[in-house]
Amino acid sequence: MKLILLGPPGAGKGTQAQRLVDKHGIPQLSTGDMLRAAVKAETEVGKRAKAVMDAGELVSDEIVNAIVAERIDQDDCAKGFILDGYPRTLAQADAVADMLAERGLHLDVVIELVVDDKALVGRILKRAEEAKAAGQPVRKDDNAEVFDERLREYYKKTAPLIGYYYANDLLKQVDGMAAIDDVTAQIDAVLADTLRN
Ligand code: AMP
Repeated sequence: MKLILLGPPGAGKGTQAQRLVDKHGIPQLSTGDMLRAAVKAETEVGKRAKAVMDAGELVSDEIVNAIVAERIDQDDCAKGFILDGYPRTLAQADAVADMLAERGLHLDVVIELVVDDKALVGRILKRAEEAKAAGQPVRKDDNAEVFDERLREYYKKTAPLIGYYYANDLLKQVDGMAAIDDVTAQIDAVLADTLRN
């Protein structure tokens, strides 16, 4: 099963991806997590990405496409994977389609978490507070100012993917404002349906 979780920052993609990992035994490929690891390790990619990420803007397609291409060739991706936070531009969407086609693979489904923008900044601030309370590092981009830019980037560059995947007959929408367990149940239903067809 190869699927994409689509939605703005704070939509709950990471939370739901983690549940899918536990249930289906396929890895979560979060480009945000991979980039943060690169920043921490001070790799060449990390050095190039840091300022862009701190500003809430998107890292170049070239960088993220290369990271994902390398990652999907690892053994744990053989049964499938969950793309979380990737693709984020139309060029990335084309790149992932090509990447998969080159390997004789294809995407099974794209699940959009439909959310109310007004709730998002609150969710992001809560995530920052929870990380702090748990003694974990707080993401530098989890604050109200940078969040504004992240949401703008989403509408400018990522939201067009909704139409793109709809046109490709891959889009399924779930209500991301429902309780976490309900969202999981909706996603389970979509996946069961996808596997049946
Ligand atoms: P996330 O953890 O998905 O919210 O991503 C955090 C930040 O990493 C984003 O604001 C971007 O700067 C960068 N990033 C993550 N994934 C991508 C992507 N697919 N394309 C470009 N930039 C990305």
